[in-house]
Amino acid sequence: MDPNRPQATHVAVRDGCILAVGDERCADAWGHAGEDPVHDSSLEEFVLMPGLVEGHAHAIAGGIWDYPYAGYHDRIDPAGKPWRGKRDLASVIADLQAIERTLPADRPLVGWGFDPIFLRDERLGRRHLDRIGGERPVAVMFSNFHLMCVNSKALEMAGYDRETDAEGVVKDANGEPTGELQEMAAMFPVMRRLGIDFRGLSLTEPAMRTYGEVCKRAGVTTATDLFSTMTEADADRLLDITADERFPARIVPALGAMGASPEEIAERARALRERSSDKLRLGAVKLMTDGSIQGWTARVKWPHYVGGQPNGIWNTPPQSIFDLALQMQRSGLQMHIHVNGDEASEVAIDALEAAARQYPWPDARHVLQHCQMMGRDQFVRCAALGVHVNLFSNHLWYFGDQHAALTIGEDRARRMNAARSALDAGVEIALHSDAPITPMGPLFTAWCAVNRQTMSGRILGRAQRISVDEALHAITLGAARTLKLDREIGSIETGKRADFAILATDPTACDASALKDISVLGTVLGGKVYPAKEPLA
Ligand SMILES: [Zn+2]
Repeated sequence: MDPNRPQATHVAVRDGCILAVGDERCADAWGHAGEDPVHDSSLEEFVLMPGLVEGHAHAIAGGIWDYPYAGYHDRIDPAGKPWRGKRDLASVIADLQAIERTLPADRPLVGWGFDPIFLRDERLGRRHLDRIGGERPVAVMFSNFHLMCVNSKALEMAGYDRETDAEGVVKDANGEPTGELQEMAAMFPVMRRLGIDFRGLSLTEPAMRTYGEVCKRAGVTTATDLFSTMTEADADRLLDITADERFPARIVPALGAMGASPEEIAERARALRERSSDKLRLGAVKLMTDGSIQGWTARVKWPHYVGGQPNGIWNTPPQSIFDLALQMQRSGLQMHIHVNGDEASEVAIDALEAAARQYPWPDARHVLQHCQMMGRDQFVRCAALGVHVNLFSNHLWYFGDQHAALTIGEDRARRMNAARSALDAGVEIALHSDAPITPMGPLFTAWCAVNRQTMSGRILGRAQRISVDEALHAITLGAARTLKLDREIGSIETGKRADFAILATDPTACDASALKDISVLGTVLGGKVYPAKEPLA
């Protein structure tokens, strides 16, 4: 990622940072009197690239595995255990039933990762879940974490019934709640009563350590936690955990901008920013706008959804997005803004433009996150505003076929996660997994952006493919720029931190279709080796 020295055979490290890059003699000039460089050839069989940067993931990618996985795709948990995907509703129910029998009486049954868009069966409803739980509350979180389905007991605990008139509480033709709950306002009352606590799943010591494992196995040395509900006490704990030499990654949380006034959120973010350390970088904020495209809760411009579904849900209404953007800009806080549908992108760009007009801030470097439906016109505006984009390229493989057939139709699916358009417009890009929505693995994510192949094997939007070099840039220096950490990480250059991914083969030398198959053997963080498995090879 350093054009001045794109390849080298040796790198010298001192005090956790890169002292020199070049050949075996690159450090010789730096020896002090009587102190020769120590040569270490333990990684000589492997390829080092800059430590991968996951610019949009969530720390619950570790702790969520405390709950049983109910998704369609085969997945591997942080301990390396494979979980088989469930290909029909009957197996989802049967597997949950088996787990229900093992639970203590006072515990709710909670599954996660469910993906109805892949199932040909009838829609999951409370009646299915009533058969499992009886008196026990049951909740199944969808893979996008924007929707869930619960049983009658859980509905009753939240006080949802036919009298309820709340957006996101889905009802059947007879006016009874079906059990499906869409987006945060409808989901939170149930989550609170069932003790489903994203904070507990992400900010405790075991959850954080598991997240560190997830990062290391993916070759990631810097990872985000992009909707943190961190308190001051959480920050104390996270500072301790990450400072431990055994913790293998730098973590960049962004404070979730919800549930408080813009002024209060800005004040908390500024206080947190003061506490940043080498391995915990605080101070950014995350704004939510719309929902999820595959859940039909994203806000999509005309002609909206091909199935005629209602046009999505605002988690934060447009006026509040404007108010938040103005306050954050005024307070000098970098914003990451969730935008899935193109109507949500438009509102976010408008809000950032208004904020920039009132409080000019060159290189504020706000980042639109997901940007799945953004068109060329919107990328041009981002370029003018200095706004970066982080594209959800994994969607092309995981949901591309479904988007073409069931959500936004062929034309707009072809230009989803339009990396080529963004780069051509002069916008800096990153690419992400949004783990645990899809598994963390930046080389897989890069493969998606380069090949744009869907699960059925078709190429979705040939014109939006990018080169291997561009994709590798996006998962290292590009992502580092979205986090304003490019001074420190993202390339192997003198003065930067000695953070590397250890790979079995050179991604620039293999076929573009093989990018996703490259083995990650571990990482180097601050000059210390963290093998994915012992021993390294
Ligand atoms: Zn996310």
